[in-house]
Amino acid sequence: MARIQKLSNETINKIAAGEVVQKPSSALKELMENSIDAGSTSIVVKLKDGGMTLIQIIDNGFGIYVDDLPILCHRYTTSKITAYEDLSRLTTFGFRGEALSSISQVAKLTVCSRRQGEALGYKAEYVCGDLLNPPCVYAYDKGTCITIEDLFYTNPCRKRALSDCSELFRNCWDLIAKYSLHYPHISFKLFKGDSLELKTPGDGNQDEPLKSLLKNCNISREIIEIPTTKTEFCEYSGMISNSQYSLKLKLFVIFVNGRLVDSNDLKKLVNEIYGKFMPKSSSFFVYISIKVPSNEVDVNVHPTKLEVRFSKESHIFAEITTRIQEVLSVSNDSRVLTIKS
Ligand code: ADP
Ligand code: MG
Repeated sequence: MARIQKLSNETINKIAAGEVVQKPSSALKELMENSIDAGSTSIVVKLKDGGMTLIQIIDNGFGIYVDDLPILCHRYTTSKITAYEDLSRLTTFGFRGEALSSISQVAKLTVCSRRQGEALGYKAEYVCGDLLNPPCVYAYDKGTCITIEDLFYTNPCRKRALSDCSELFRNCWDLIAKYSLHYPHISFKLFKGDSLELKTPGDGNQDEPLKSLLKNCNISREIIEIPTTKTEFCEYSGMISNSQYSLKLKLFVIFVNGRLVDSNDLKKLVNEIYGKFMPKSSSFFVYISIKVPSNEVDVNVHPTKLEVRFSKESHIFAEITTRIQEVLSVSNDSRVLTIKS
């Protein structure tokens, strides 16, 4: 057995990067969240080969200070918090300061940005966290454009495993469609090469994003709105499919304090409820947005931030599932199941 030794920073960074950036859609999620944190109202995404060759994201947000560019892709560099205590009043997606650093470990990263109110824009290229050359003046509109090329060129094994470009593209499409539903005041566009594959108006209305997400669904007949409801523990709202839902697509979209998260516990409970109204393993669409005071959410569970923990979770889930059950049972169109004996 060898003696214990400290790993080099280079190795530490590469190992950590593999966790944050698992596939193109995880890099895209980080980039989109940065654009939203920067107050953008327009986000344009361009992908090639499902994001493996190119992910480009163009926003109209605050932009980045030129003096910050040298440390932009260093690990744990952020403009969003200054101390651990800030996590309890976090209003941004970001706080770990490791997304751009991680992406630059596994891909070629180029940033073009112009701060609001600044006369000049700048361009900078990064490899493994560091600037390739000093930032140069670059004609650019207000906002930021981040270009990621040749994802996982440093990790051929991961690259080989991610060979289904159609599936990788679908992951990115799904992600943008879900964000566009939750952030209807932001206009999103997604290009696959030169072809425009998704476009939402950003007019604050959820109708168009919902239509994009649930193509071919008869929304007025199959989707029921759950208006904003305040309870002792949280505030929630959403949309759910009724028992007429005809799509094969099972979609469970949950946002907690504006973050898209996974929750197997809530998913399981919702599955059980639908099982009472529809044949087992039927598809359904559930979109729920939960708001709780920020000091009651722990967002620092995993580097991908796809998991959160919050106090009174079981009470909140019970309230939501009871509500879903009520909505489904009063929906007149409930399908009558014929049970074979
Ligand atoms: P975090 O979001 O956790 O701070 P990131 O690595 O994602 O860490 O980003 C590092 C910093 O780069 C951010 O704190 C922010 O200041 C800046 N940044 C990244 N993307 C953008 C963007 N699209 N617009 C403005 N600033 C950005
Ligand atoms: Mg970030």
